[in-house]
Amino acid sequence: MTFPAPIDPPARLLMGPGPISAYPSVLRAMSAPLVGQYDPFMTATMNETQSLYRDVFATANDATVLIDGTSRAGIEAAITSLVRPGEKVLVPVFGRFGHLLAEIAERALADVHTIEVEWGQVFTPSAIEEAITRVKPTLLALVQGDTSTTMCQPLEEIGEICRRHGVLFYTDATASLGGNDFEADAWGLDAATAGLQKCLGGPSGSAPLTLSDRAVEVVRSRSRIEAGIREEGDASADDFVRSNYFDLGMVLDYWGPRRLNHHTEATSMLYGARECARVLLLEGRNAVIERHRRIGDAMLAGVRGLGLDVFGDVAHKMTNVVAVEIPDGVAGDAARQAMLTDFGIEIGTSFGPLHGRVWRIGTMGYNARPDAVFSTLAALEHVLRRFGARVPVGGGVDAAAEALT
Ligand SMILES: *Cc1c(COP(=O)(O)O)cnc(C)c1O
Repeated sequence: MTFPAPIDPPARLLMGPGPISAYPSVLRAMSAPLVGQYDPFMTATMNETQSLYRDVFATANDATVLIDGTSRAGIEAAITSLVRPGEKVLVPVFGRFGHLLAEIAERALADVHTIEVEWGQVFTPSAIEEAITRVKPTLLALVQGDTSTTMCQPLEEIGEICRRHGVLFYTDATASLGGNDFEADAWGLDAATAGLQKCLGGPSGSAPLTLSDRAVEVVRSRSRIEAGIREEGDASADDFVRSNYFDLGMVLDYWGPRRLNHHTEATSMLYGARECARVLLLEGRNAVIERHRRIGDAMLAGVRGLGLDVFGDVAHKMTNVVAVEIPDGVAGDAARQAMLTDFGIEIGTSFGPLHGRVWRIGTMGYNARPDAVFSTLAALEHVLRRFGARVPVGGGVDAAAEALT
């Protein structure tokens, strides 16, 4: 065996449902020198990052931090810290990630109830309220954008329903935050989590999280540190969060003014997460969402211009990803492979009921750009034809260009 060469990845344009190509400045930020855990620069950078993510989530929540780990670390921290064993959690499932929330809640020993709609659809507020009335959960756990179906669940009316029924409201906004409307406070969210590798334009490995004051009260009441100073006999074992790493009370004490040692904050990921939020807010939160909408619409017009059918209820499609039906007779996986090897462009396959039926094409973060749309559509046109589909010459790029004028 030859000794491995220094890392030298091939040039790729990542146009799948995530991860996507990171903003160059995020990669540069991540190569900045390390400092010690309690260096004044480190703690100041943590504070700055919290403040930036308050603006990204549109919240005044003091409890806005990063969980070190991929997006599901944020999900697991939120659910594990908010729910005691035996408490009821309601998960409306409209795609693969709803099943993930349910599975994580089950592992937290919650009494999990799900409702489902067909893939490609979203829930009405009344369907969610009906289930809340019937189940009487402690927590509603709801995905905002589920990349497996490309659907974006409207959330703006759900917080008020939860408030009326005394239910905590958590959303997984991993795939949607930064590219779709999101208002943590205005929508009455108690907890929201995300990741960097979708619209925020970074690598996976850090999970921004925010908690309302109501949610903070719950996690504080279950934290080991808090429990330790309670009267003997006050707390049963079930009161404690069943995880040290994901005990949000302890995580908040590490990020907060007390700076109580918990984990060692992942410094390079912190730099990267800070830069993701910085570039987003520099361009403007609404401007970035609008860019995702414009570029997503151009990709939608482009794939239709190639004669492809789009999966799901397009009125509720996320801005940043589209699912296209693979034309009859085209070998989906081989064609996707040709996109990668011949053009250096990655598009996504799909899961569960959609596997082999649709490709998923993303336009997010750094790659929500006209040239990335044109390159992808031009390559796709060639590959579709090579794999036996009849496609209008220039139909994709022309339609996308038209949509962008
Ligand atoms: C992509 C995605 C995740 C990814 O989780 P990771 O742990 O970062 O792989 C989680 N939730 C949703 C809704 C996603 O789209």
